[in-house]
Amino acid sequence: MTVPKPTDGTRWRCTLCGNLTRFDVTRSSKVVEYVHLDLAGEPRIEEQEVLSESIESVRCRWCDAADQVELVERPGAQV
Ligand SMILES: [Zn+2]
Repeated sequence: MTVPKPTDGTRWRCTLCGNLTRFDVTRSSKVVEYVHLDLAGEPRIEEQEVLSESIESVRCRWCDAADQVELVERPGAQV
């Protein structure tokens, strides 16, 4: 099952328990990072460009249901 992606006007809601705020999201992404190392060899990522990204799974933190989310309107959203 594919997970619907939230937009500016929508948010996730667990269809089983109604949770709106807490999810474990498994995401895979392809990212280019600009790594800047200092003289001691300590790396720091100064820029990140996300080439592609996909959500693989969303698990509800309350009832532990996997991929049982629907999209609902955000409060006060301008749709
Ligand atoms: Zn739930």
